[in-house]
Amino acid sequence: DVRVRFCPSPTGTPHVGLIRTALFNWAYARHTGGKLIFRIEDTDAARDSEESFGQIIDGLRWLKLDWDEGVDAGGPHGPYRQSERYDIYRDVIAQLVESGHIYESFATGEEIEARNVSLGRDPKMGYDNFERDLSNEQKAAFRAAGRSPALRLRVPDEDLSFDDLVRGEITFPAGSFSDFVVVRPNGHPLYPFVNPVDDALMGVTHVLRGEDLLSSTPRQIALYHALIDIGLTTFVPRFGHLPYVMGDGNKKLSKRDPASNLFHHRDRGFIPEGLVNYLALLGWSLTHDRDVFSIEEMIAAFDVEDVNPNPARFDVKKAESINGDHIRLLEVSDFAARTVPYLVAAGVLSEPLTDAQQAILTAAAPLVQERIALLGEAPAMLGFLFTTSDALVHETDALASLPQNAGEILAASVAALGDIPEAEWTTERVHTVLTETLIETLALKPRVAFGPLRVAISGRRVSPPLFESMEILGKSESLARLARLSA
Ligand code: GLU
Repeated sequence: DVRVRFCPSPTGTPHVGLIRTALFNWAYARHTGGKLIFRIEDTDAARDSEESFGQIIDGLRWLKLDWDEGVDAGGPHGPYRQSERYDIYRDVIAQLVESGHIYESFATGEEIEARNVSLGRDPKMGYDNFERDLSNEQKAAFRAAGRSPALRLRVPDEDLSFDDLVRGEITFPAGSFSDFVVVRPNGHPLYPFVNPVDDALMGVTHVLRGEDLLSSTPRQIALYHALIDIGLTTFVPRFGHLPYVMGDGNKKLSKRDPASNLFHHRDRGFIPEGLVNYLALLGWSLTHDRDVFSIEEMIAAFDVEDVNPNPARFDVKKAESINGDHIRLLEVSDFAARTVPYLVAAGVLSEPLTDAQQAILTAAAPLVQERIALLGEAPAMLGFLFTTSDALVHETDALASLPQNAGEILAASVAALGDIPEAEWTTERVHTVLTETLIETLALKPRVAFGPLRVAISGRRVSPPLFESMEILGKSESLARLARLSA
């Protein structure tokens, strides 16, 4: 059975590339009926933070990416935070030392460089495995001098190949890397050690992760062979390296770019359905001609072997357009409810909404649902409906757009609309009366005629449809707004 894992290091705010990795692991688990394990790799006390850990969980929950085992969920292979697993690592280290797979190495970085210089080699060439066979006397002498050893994995001197699920066969020729440090002299085990050890202990079958980790894979496979040898596991997992997520200028999407931050998109009003759909496209596609799909469709179709190895560009405009399509797929009442936090954040409303505010929101929601790509656009579109004629603020560019005869147009409108009985104040009636008055009698072009009305009613040049908005505002409020600007 498939067992995949998502194992972030909790540093900083969640990057969209990290969440893409979570999504692909999740989709693969759901597609195959396997399990997703959520492990936290928090062995770097200087960089890890609880805040970041909380944000990753918050982000996954927001996107409805759940997990079967791990942090918060529990499971048979816990604990699922690496900072709570040091006893386990100590035990595995002891077994690997005992079996000779890892060995004590005393040389410091400076000594390794000096050795390379003295042998006439590139000083940066690194460690050449010269401490593989230190004698007990040599080790005792180092210890007597007060030195503690790092532990290194003895890497077999042979080519190392694996069949990457995304990239196909990849070979690292013998000698591509030297015996690497798995435990620091202070006893602290490092990522290249704890990550595969946990994958092995947790029975991970498929390691799907970013391309940035490709270079650590041969080392991890070498370690896996040692783990198999000591009986900790029986198999090496399959690896699949997901493509880089690129930002502007053909560079990796940098942490400094706001678009890299998951919450930047939530704040702007991406809905989870839309963002998940867009993240899925960072390296994968449902069909060649359909960009908009549901998460169920993704689950049904997703296979890592279909992931494209080429770098994927994060295209904000495309993401927004896909989000807009998902906004339009929502039930209108659901859409209305989702705009509320954005209306509150913008100061347009405060919770709880009054019945009157709720009624306006319900009536206006279908008008804006058709027109926005981000929920964050809702306050500017809807704000005018939740204010009064005296408090309405007209945007400067809207006022500047008014034609010379705006006053007459508005005055004529007020006069004609005044005859409509309150009970007959509907979109159609308002439309008919204004068409008769302004287009037929005054012979104005619709754009000239209705532009000033839109500004008077909404304070903006762009708004939800005018006549519908006037119906929602009601007769007296609408007339007050037209009169205010006609003066
Ligand atoms: N903690 C590692 C990271 O966030 C996990 C890498 C992996 O998936 O192996 O980069």
